Amino acid sequence: MDSNAVDRLAENWNTVAGEVRDAAAKAGRDADDITVIGVTKYVDASVTAMLVDAGCKHLGENRPQVLWQKAESLAFDDDVRWHVIGHLQRNKARRTLRHRPIIHSVDSPRLLATIAEESAAEDFVTDVLLEVNASDEEAKTGMSPDEIRSLLETIPQSGVRVVGIMAMAGWGTDSDAAQRQFAATRHFRDQLSTQFGLPLPHLSMGMSGDFVEAIAEGATMVRIGSRLYEGVIKIGH
Ligand SMILES: *Cc1c(COP(=O)(O)O)cnc(C)c1O
Repeated sequence: MDSNAVDRLAENWNTVAGEVRDAAAKAGRDADDITVIGVTKYVDASVTAMLVDAGCKHLGENRPQVLWQKAESLAFDDDVRWHVIGHLQRNKARRTLRHRPIIHSVDSPRLLATIAEESAAEDFVTDVLLEVNASDEEAKTGMSPDEIRSLLETIPQSGVRVVGIMAMAGWGTDSDAAQRQFAATRHFRDQLSTQFGLPLPHLSMGMSGDFVEAIAEGATMVRIGSRLYEGVIKIGH
């Protein structure tokens, strides 16, 4: 990468971080309660390292093998945290957990049980979020609200801490529709919290196109990819 691209990446990071602070202020929230996760699925290890140098300490990957490859080749300091935001196959849990990520995309009781078992065996506790299918579309990933309620009836006693809910707005929704989905996700979290007596402090929702709406509705983690790479690399979509 040339130095222009490096500068542009840093500029994009600062712009996005500023927009997140503005959105927090507008919503009457403390910006420190919102973590910006830089989604690195579009870029290689060297750009990922530059993003960290620009100040982004939370990295999101949706493919476990790519997370391994980057985490193992880059060996970041302890202040860099990985976030798994895509489907995690159970046979990839152990190697993924070694990197002590937060897992946003728990989409089955079996996966939760595996994460709990593998974590407990290594004497640590993994923070996880349950992925809700917020859009009623058959093809979307995540669990239905009923599946999540039934999962919360019997959560593993050790190895995991369920800290919140992750949602994606349906494709092609406009910003009002996205905001309604985010509000519904927050209500759902509040209900679960009351029903099961669990704090569930985290709401992972909002991407490049809708993080302002997500913050207005209480997102504590926003997952931002393409906005960071404008003018740095080409993203086909
Ligand atoms: C790719 C991805 C993002 C980031 O999306 P952008 O629109 O590029 O910001 C966020 N969350 C998940 C689960 C993703 O797969």
